[in-house]
Amino acid sequence: MPHKQRNIAVIGAGIAGLACARTLAKAGHQVTVLEKAASVGGRMTSCDTPFGSFDHGAQYFTVRDPRFERALATAPSSRKPWSANAVRVLDPHGRLAEAALPSREAHWVGVPAMDAIALAWAAPLVAQNRLQLNTRVTRIVRDTLDSRRWQLHTSGAEDSVHVFPGFDAVLLAIPHGLAAGLLRFSSVAPGLVQQIDSVEVAPCWTLMLAFPQAVQPTLTHLGPQWNAALSTHHRIAWLARESSKPGRAPVERWTVQASAAWSQEHVDDDGPRVQAKLQKAFAEVTGIHAEPTYAQVHRWRSAKTQTPAGQSFLWDQPLGLGLCGDWCLGHRVEDAFISGLELALKVHAA
Ligand SMILES: Cc1cc2nc3c(=O)[nH]c(=O)nc-3n(C[C@H](O)[C@H](O)[C@H](O)COP(=O)(O)OP(=O)(O)OC[C@H]3O[C@@H](n4cnc5c(N)ncnc54)[C@H](O)[C@@H]3O)c2cc1C
Repeated sequence: MPHKQRNIAVIGAGIAGLACARTLAKAGHQVTVLEKAASVGGRMTSCDTPFGSFDHGAQYFTVRDPRFERALATAPSSRKPWSANAVRVLDPHGRLAEAALPSREAHWVGVPAMDAIALAWAAPLVAQNRLQLNTRVTRIVRDTLDSRRWQLHTSGAEDSVHVFPGFDAVLLAIPHGLAAGLLRFSSVAPGLVQQIDSVEVAPCWTLMLAFPQAVQPTLTHLGPQWNAALSTHHRIAWLARESSKPGRAPVERWTVQASAAWSQEHVDDDGPRVQAKLQKAFAEVTGIHAEPTYAQVHRWRSAKTQTPAGQSFLWDQPLGLGLCGDWCLGHRVEDAFISGLELALKVHAA
């Protein structure tokens, strides 16, 4: 029996939201995606600077599920493998703590930037005018014309407000803390809020540094010959040379991610203070003491899931409200994709 076409809102155009939206749209539903940012991709994004881009959210992604592989195959030119010189583990002084193991799985990056896959998946929605950017959902309420349906209150550029009416289902593809806040503020679905109470996600401070005095491949690198490393330094968990990634500008650039514990401890510190501390740690680990021409920090309030929901999505069928996102399953791009996909399949079958 053919499924009834439904009018469905997806809040958030990160990987989970887009995986969910494209699946439901392909199944014949009328899907509207509302995204508060000016572009798609969420935490799988890049930051543009005069010296080249930094992947200041997800650094790379891996592919283990054939469904993710099939979805990626729809946009084959939007990703390339990144040979990170076999990721190694360093002690706080930058010495090798564990031998670098040859990577057992490919490390992929979006090209020319991390958001390339999200942009490719969003293109059909854009073509049909089904993606609303710069649109933050502020409240979920029952539709004034049909109390079985939902309407969404939003705020946009220059504080413009708008109401999107007539949704049979609303799917929140946003970080768990924001989802809980939106449901609480809307006084809907206390049962769903309770189910995500136990989820824990650590913040992450990210440092971005550019050294235009070193340009690949004509000059040698500054500092180490490796391109990516895990670190046991108490402040730093990960370092990567952005300029070693395919399709990136050649200026030597490093992205440094602070450890979950240190980021949590310093989550409310001001940017300049955090930047100074992370730059000092960066010099200790890499031996690069040169002054960067560009230095910037970014705080992610939701970065690495510590305690996931333990199920790939949450769905309240009588209410027509659902939740998805990486935090349902883990902390990887692929977790976000699987979560969005499986919620869409459930909603379609409902
Ligand atoms: C620093 C950092 C490093 C990482 N490194 C890796 C890595 O190396 N490999 C890996 O696999 N994963 C990594 N991740 C995790 C990966 O980025 C995430 O798993 C994935 O991108 C999450 O996708 P999502 O769609 O669930 O959420 P998000 O990407 O957060 O998408 C949510 C979207 O919802 C929007 N939104 C929020 N609230 C509203 C609202 N009220 N109205 C409208 N829109 C709203 C946001 O703007 C955003 O676009 C990293 C994450 C961070 C932060």
